[in-house]
Amino acid sequence: MTADGIVGEFLALKSETDADLLAMQCGDFYEFFAEDAEFVGDELDLKVSEKSSHGSTYPMAGVPVDDLTPYLKALVERGYRVAVADQYETEDGHAREITRVVTPGTLLETTDPAAQFLASIVVVDGRYGLALADVTTGEFLVTTTDAAADVLAELHRFDPVEVLPGPTVDATGDLLTRVRDRTDASITDYDEAAFAPGRAERTLREQFGDTALESVGLDDRAGVAAAGAALAYVKETGVGVLDAMTRLQAYDPGDHLDLDATTQRNLELTETMHGDREGSLLGTVDHTVTSAGRRRLREWLTRPRRDRTVIDRRLDSVDALASAALARDRVREVLDDAYDLERLAARASSGSADATDLLSVRDTLAVLPALADAVADSRLADSPLSDIVDRPDRETAAALLAELDSALSEDPPKTVTEGGLFRRGYDADLDDLLDRYEDAREWLDGLAEREKARTGITHLQVDRNKTDGYYIQVGKSETDDVPEEYREIKTLKNSRRYTTDELEEREREILRLEEARGDLEYDLFRDLRDRVAAHAECLQAVGRTLATVDALASLATHAASHDWCRPEVVDPGPLVVEAGRHPVVETTTDFVPNDVDLRDDRGFLLVTGPNMSGKSTYMRQAALIVLLAQAGSFVPARAATVGVVDGIYTRVGALDELAGGRSTFMVEMQELSNILHSATEESLVVLDEVGRGTATYDGISIAWATTEYIHNEIGCKCLFATHYHELTALADHLPRVANVHVAVAGDDGGDEDITFLRTIEEGPTDRSYGVHVADLAGVPKPVVDRSRDVLDRLREERAIEARGAETSDGGENGTTQAVFDLSAGGFREEADEATAESDGGGLDPATEAVLSELEDTSLAETSPVDLMARVREWQERLPEKGEK
Ligand code: ADP
Repeated sequence: MTADGIVGEFLALKSETDADLLAMQCGDFYEFFAEDAEFVGDELDLKVSEKSSHGSTYPMAGVPVDDLTPYLKALVERGYRVAVADQYETEDGHAREITRVVTPGTLLETTDPAAQFLASIVVVDGRYGLALADVTTGEFLVTTTDAAADVLAELHRFDPVEVLPGPTVDATGDLLTRVRDRTDASITDYDEAAFAPGRAERTLREQFGDTALESVGLDDRAGVAAAGAALAYVKETGVGVLDAMTRLQAYDPGDHLDLDATTQRNLELTETMHGDREGSLLGTVDHTVTSAGRRRLREWLTRPRRDRTVIDRRLDSVDALASAALARDRVREVLDDAYDLERLAARASSGSADATDLLSVRDTLAVLPALADAVADSRLADSPLSDIVDRPDRETAAALLAELDSALSEDPPKTVTEGGLFRRGYDADLDDLLDRYEDAREWLDGLAEREKARTGITHLQVDRNKTDGYYIQVGKSETDDVPEEYREIKTLKNSRRYTTDELEEREREILRLEEARGDLEYDLFRDLRDRVAAHAECLQAVGRTLATVDALASLATHAASHDWCRPEVVDPGPLVVEAGRHPVVETTTDFVPNDVDLRDDRGFLLVTGPNMSGKSTYMRQAALIVLLAQAGSFVPARAATVGVVDGIYTRVGALDELAGGRSTFMVEMQELSNILHSATEESLVVLDEVGRGTATYDGISIAWATTEYIHNEIGCKCLFATHYHELTALADHLPRVANVHVAVAGDDGGDEDITFLRTIEEGPTDRSYGVHVADLAGVPKPVVDRSRDVLDRLREERAIEARGAETSDGGENGTTQAVFDLSAGGFREEADEATAESDGGGLDPATEAVLSELEDTSLAETSPVDLMARVREWQERLPEKGEK
């Protein structure tokens, strides 16, 4: 089907773009036609009408030009890409062209204060390049890495809204599938050519100048390709913020604490497992007063640092702010007047900033000197805050502030073409126009009185409306007295309207002046906006300073109100926490503080205790204290020494993976595998149950081997909660493993009601609580009793061999063998003599166990029937000949 006329034009434009929808300007409306009309009709509840065009009819839906933004926003936030075709005047009428494609990653009109990243990923020569651009603030980051897992972790941190995968990204595995699984980002197939390193490099050089790549240290082709493609996309979609993209920052993920995507979720950093902000770490500690400050705080919590000097600097500021309550309040009060300067700079660059936005720029620029004063005149003067407020170019900022101050009137109209934007004295031409305008107005204002005096007519007034323009209105009773030069233009019921040559002349002049004033003000406004845009870099620097101080003040506020302490950060060092609390749980519960003691000789804690006793809370608390410290925050504890770690890796019971179609156990093992591959000696690993998702013997074997591997091979700090009580015996054998347990009242065996004390104590729990909890939960008695029997039998029958750590004195290939015999309840070194005595064969554990029971059996105390039963059981337990 072909279509002519307006619908034909629509369809032709639509075929030029790969956007999902097209909004085409037709005079005062943006229209959607055909399928697009039906679609937006459904999605946005717009009225769909019929448009006849050259003999056919098409669905049509439209929105007024001034109302497009909210509709665009709604469509784009649902993941659609919308092309916008604007109408412009030509010599013979008008024409239309696509001026912008609005996509999730290039939506400038967002009202969500969170960063809005567009990510592009490429693989070049086996390396991954990842670029992240936030068009709303001009932030532009790039990094490279060898590992797909790093890309995934970074994506999780930045939580992009749109991802551009380069042409070969998916050839390297299931990265894209995992991106899709893990984020709500829209995935956009973008022009493959833009990712070619040569072309990408040209794009970057055009934007940042010839030396820019060298100066950011971007010598990596993957990084160049990713950043170039992202920039090309921003350019091509026409959002118009290139001027606000003032710098490209190459970063090394190694500067930041490694937090894999799972850990970020498990620790509920920015949202809870259920997706709520409230109840997350960020939701709890956020007391920022500006949206830019909130973005900064989020960045800190998702990207804690590894460099002790950076961390200490932040802590110095938080410390100063936390202990100077008055100064802190003053700082926060001052900041309260600040708007989002980074965003305003982007809006100025794109030409979408209106007069109110420029006023916001002005008001926010005024915050900087006020903030500097608040710092200088207080106990904060000697803190690093003084440097922070000095970072922006204060002179440039002050000059721009002065210009905006002298330019903009206090209460400017919302539309920039209306007039009334500028103050007197700002522009001589404008002043001249205004003088003449005011003269004309004065003449008009006095006209009624003058005419009344001159003609003696009492019911005479001067007014203006749309159809008649200016007129003199005279009451019916006096119309006979009107002077000759009055020309009647309209008769009403009780009056007549007249005009005169002079009035007409003045009217024309006023209209001319109004138009000239609107035009001139609009030009002046655009000039001013361009000058503001040209200062984007300065505005961004001021914005960053305000955001940073806001985030620091927020951390200090929380620290002061929740009695947090400054951690002593050491590198390297132990994790020793005195009376620590969980930062989120402590705000809703009467929290029982706990100590954490992870040092060299006990870097691996096995945490045991019944279900619901507080094991995972304890371990997360430890992880969050490390994370907070490395973010530069105080921590919930009486005192804490935090050795810097390079990464935190966690595995906790996976709730929601089943829905994703992957079996829980498979996910559990994938996560475990990732941890065992990624963690280094300097990491912190938190394992909340391993091997639960499979049969007991499988599970305990995996937990056992995992403990050995982490202890012997990785050697990192580790907290491992397990319900395999049997593992606790490992502490006797692996030198760095220590047992702690959650104390329980009523441990003496008379146990009808267990009370969780929540305190962590040294040593293992002395029994397994599973069956007991089943009992408490009301599981029928025969089942509980039988469980006890089965448990006892299982314990008797299992014997496990433990693999020891490398001996530091370089002894025998480094490993010692031991046998864990559950029936005897402990370890025994594998006896060398035994090995020697039995022709180098040695006895297998099952035979040994039978022999020892045989030895222990007292003939005098055992009935013949029991004895027979026992002998039969021993026979069954002895290995078949040759089986060994
Ligand atoms: P587990 O991992 O042992 O099953 P959890 O850590 O999930 O137990 O804790 C169970 C409940 O106890 C949670 O509701 C938690 O809020 C609460 N809790 C845990 N530790 C403490 C504590 N130290 N003080 C107070 N309540 C706690």
